[in-house]
Amino acid sequence: MEKSQFKRLELQPFLLEALHAQGFKKPTEIQERLVPAISNGKDVIGQSETGSGKTLAFLLPIVNNIDPMNLEVQAVITAPTRELATQIHNELKKLLDYCDPEQMIQAKLMVGGTDRLRSMEKLKMQPHIVVGTPGRIHDMVTEQALKIYTTATLVVDEADQMLDMGFIADVDKIAARMSEELQMLVFSATIPEKLQPFLKKYMNNPRHVHVKPKQVTTPNIDHRLMPLRHRDKLQLVTDIATALNPFLAIIFTNTKEAADEVADTLAAQGLNVDRLHGGLHPRQRKQVMKRVKDLKTQFLVATDLAARGIDIKGVSHIINYELPKDLDFYVHRVGRTGRAGDTGVAVTLYEQTDQFAIDKLKKRGISFTYVDLRRGDWVTLEKPKERIEKRKLTKADISPKTGGKAKAKGKAVKPGYKKKQRWQQEQEEKRQRKLARRKQGRNKR
Ligand code: AMP
Repeated sequence: MEKSQFKRLELQPFLLEALHAQGFKKPTEIQERLVPAISNGKDVIGQSETGSGKTLAFLLPIVNNIDPMNLEVQAVITAPTRELATQIHNELKKLLDYCDPEQMIQAKLMVGGTDRLRSMEKLKMQPHIVVGTPGRIHDMVTEQALKIYTTATLVVDEADQMLDMGFIADVDKIAARMSEELQMLVFSATIPEKLQPFLKKYMNNPRHVHVKPKQVTTPNIDHRLMPLRHRDKLQLVTDIATALNPFLAIIFTNTKEAADEVADTLAAQGLNVDRLHGGLHPRQRKQVMKRVKDLKTQFLVATDLAARGIDIKGVSHIINYELPKDLDFYVHRVGRTGRAGDTGVAVTLYEQTDQFAIDKLKKRGISFTYVDLRRGDWVTLEKPKERIEKRKLTKADISPKTGGKAKAKGKAVKPGYKKKQRWQQEQEEKRQRKLARRKQGRNKR
């Protein structure tokens, strides 16, 4: 039986078996392009998003090249967050489970926020592969608990985020302690200018592979824009959450304060919500990730840094409470849904001042539909301006006494609705008074 198209990557049989067990049929583009280069000892820069299969693109050749009989650390894999490091370690374990029991490959996770002494204990026997955050790994190296002077492979995952979070200095210190023949594998969604000195210092004529994010332009994501129009944002996000009733939605905010506000509001409405941001204790973050993975959560409110790089399966909807400041993050955010042929929906709340950013996203090939919620139902808007005209003309909106169609149908009237009605009524009264004044003036003349 033809096991899989992975065969041409010249992987050991136990790796083919592990891939088969996970149901993977063929390599993704980044795996196809990078596994042979990494196997041949080349330095590489993999520019790609989460969802491209980049983790296996480096794990497969690394594991393939490990000599189980050599009881030294042969590869160090660094990631900017504990969650991402844990996720990489989990993917690695799925491969190592298929090792020949006579030739086991050992991997250890070293992340901050856990007991240091226990980390040191774990290193009594040196593992073949170490996965972790730069701070803890460097700490273990300084303590001489981790011996990496002969280690020849270093992975820097999410390098741009490492830079943002100020971890590149630690990665640099780790790299400086490693073998002179260092093979460096850098993965990053973007390659900022500030990363160049680091890359130049350690990389020798690297193979640079850029895999464009497919998810954004594929038709399986429905990108919706919803205007804020001076409405209450927390109320709107609650309405969106209720109207979508998703399998699993991630609601992105730009700050941890906003994440808390949104999560508190949704929780107060009785929705099943968790939050993930840098302000949480590592233990709490771990618990949240477990609940999300166990499909116990329906809404996860998250900031970009906390959620970036984390592969959460089954995300059906993304809600952007606000557009991210860095538009690359829009791509990261929506890339979490609509994976592997599934359909996904991304709803973004926007204000008029966001128009420039929206135009930029359109230029990147994202096609948006403008939508709004009318009494819990989605309506498509042709153009934002036309929609405002239509709202002015809707009889239900200017009817002073009734609660509009919602009330007529016996549905509950939303809290903001009455306020809007009052405002519209006042406008109408003002208009009538103005007309009356004009009439009076004309009669006098
Ligand atoms: P990553 O970009 O590494 O975060 O991977 C995203 C997801 O793709 C993970 O859930 C992987 O398990 C999955 N994946 C990786 N390689 C393949 C493949 N060749 N075929 C199908 N799924 C894959």
